[in-house]
Amino acid sequence: MAWDFQTDPAFEEKLAWMRTFVKEEVFPIETLKINREQLMQVIKPLQDEVKKRGLWAAHLPPALGGMGFGQLELGLMHEILGQSPYGPVVFGNNAPDSGNAELLAAAMEMTGREDIRERWLNPLLNGEIRSGFSMTEPNTAGSDPRLLVTRAEKDGEEWVINGRKWYTTNGSVANILILMAVTNPDVHPYQGSSMFVVPVNTPGLTILRDVGSMDDPEVTYGRFGNHAEILYEDVRIPADHLVGPEGSGFLLAQTRLGPGRIHHCMRWLGQSQRAFDMMCERALSRFTHGSLLAEKQTVQNWIADSKAEMHAARLMTLHAAWKMDQVGASQSRDEIAMIKYYGATVLHNVVDRALQVHGSLGYSSDMPIEGMYRAARAARIYDGPDEVHKQTVARHVLKEYTASEIPTDHVPTRAAAAQVKYADMLKQLGVTQS
Ligand SMILES: Cc1cc2nc3c(=O)[nH]c(=O)nc-3n(C[C@H](O)[C@H](O)[C@H](O)COP(=O)(O)OP(=O)(O)OC[C@H]3O[C@@H](n4cnc5c(N)ncnc54)[C@H](O)[C@@H]3O)c2cc1C
Repeated sequence: MAWDFQTDPAFEEKLAWMRTFVKEEVFPIETLKINREQLMQVIKPLQDEVKKRGLWAAHLPPALGGMGFGQLELGLMHEILGQSPYGPVVFGNNAPDSGNAELLAAAMEMTGREDIRERWLNPLLNGEIRSGFSMTEPNTAGSDPRLLVTRAEKDGEEWVINGRKWYTTNGSVANILILMAVTNPDVHPYQGSSMFVVPVNTPGLTILRDVGSMDDPEVTYGRFGNHAEILYEDVRIPADHLVGPEGSGFLLAQTRLGPGRIHHCMRWLGQSQRAFDMMCERALSRFTHGSLLAEKQTVQNWIADSKAEMHAARLMTLHAAWKMDQVGASQSRDEIAMIKYYGATVLHNVVDRALQVHGSLGYSSDMPIEGMYRAARAARIYDGPDEVHKQTVARHVLKEYTASEIPTDHVPTRAAAAQVKYADMLKQLGVTQS
C-alpha cells in the first residue's frame, strides 16, 4: 500500500543544502541598502553557485535549461526559497518571469514554434530581459477575466492592440509584456482571447504610472516589484508576436497559473514558518504582567493554532502538487483552489499573530514582519481573490449533491423506513415502535 509522507533521501540532501544556503547566503542580503543593479551584482555569484549545483530554473524541462522537477519537488523547494523575497531570484524562478517562461514554453509546445526560444524564452531565463504579465484591467473585474475588453485585431501581417491594463507587476522595468487580449468577441470568451508578446518600446504603448499600493504608498517609478498602469493605443506588433494558437489565451493563462499557485502557497509556508519562528523566539524573551509571553494562554493558543494551520496548509499543498504530477492541472482544480484561499489565510493569520506578539517592534520596520504582513494581505487578492476560488470549490462540491424536500437524514422518515425494513425481526423480538 502506497501512503508515504517521506521525501526521497537524494532529494532531501538537495533540500538540506538549499536550507543552509538560503539562511546563510540569502537572508543577509535582505538588510543591504542597495539599488537593483547593485543587488544583481551581489546576487550573481550566488546564482552561479545554484547553476553549478543544477538547481537553476528548476521549474522548466531540461530541454529548456531547467531541471524538469515535478510539482512536488518544486513545492518542497519553494517552501525554502519563499522564506526570503530574494530566494526565487537567486534560484532563477522569480515571479512573474518564471510564470511567463512557463507560458512561453507551453506556447512552444502547442505550436512547435522554435523561434520563441531564441527570441524571448532564453533571454528571459538568462536574465537578459525582464517581463510583465498584463492581464488585469482597471475598468473590468479582474476576478472574472471573461469580461476583458482589451482588443487585438488583425490588420494584414500585424496585430493592432487597444486597451488599458493595470497591476502589471514589473511593467515599468520590463522589456516585454505578455498581454492577454480579446481576438474574437463573437465566440465564448474562453475561445476568444489570445496571448501576445509586446515589447515595451512599441509605439502606442505608454506606461502611465506605477500604482501606489500598500506595498509602497508613495511609489517611486521604475522600482522592481512595482505594478504598472499601461495604455495600449493602436499598438502594432508583427503577427508572429501572437504566442500560442489564436484563441488559446485562457488555456495558456491556466498553464501559467496552476503550477504558479502551488509555488506561491509553498513560498507562503516558508514565510509563515519564518514569522512563526520570530513569534516563538519573542514569546520566550518578553516578560510582562508577571510572566513571559510564552506562559500566557492566549499566546500559547496562537502558537498551537499557527502550528496546526501551517501543518494543514502544507499537507494540502503537497497533496495538490502530488495530484498535479499524477493527473495534471485541470483535474486538480479544486485542490489548487483550496490551497490558494486556505494558504493565503494561514499566511495572513500567522504573520498577524507574530506582529501582535512583537507589539510596537512588530509594527516597526526594525523587524521584517510589517513587510510580510503587507505581502500577506496581497496574497488574498492576486491570482484570483479568495472568494472566487471558494466559489469554484463550492460549485464543484454542490454538483455531487441533489436537492431533497425532506432531508435525507430526517429521523422520523428514516425510522418509518427502518421499521418496514426490519419488520419481521422487530416482531420476533417483540419490539413495538411508537
Ligand atoms: C500585489 C498584486 C500583484 C498583481 N500582479 C498582477 C500582474 O502581474 N498581472 C495582472 O494582470 N494582474 C495582477 N494583479 C491583479 C490581480 O490579478 C487582480 O487584482 C485580481 O484578479 C482581482 O481583480 P480586481 O482587482 O479587478 O478585483 P475585482 O474583480 O473588482 O473584485 C473585487 C472583490 O470582489 C469580490 N469578488 C469578486 N468575485 C467574487 C465572487 N464571485 N464572489 C464573491 N466575491 C467576489 C472579492 O472580494 C474581490 O476582492 C495583481 C494584484 C495584486 C494585489
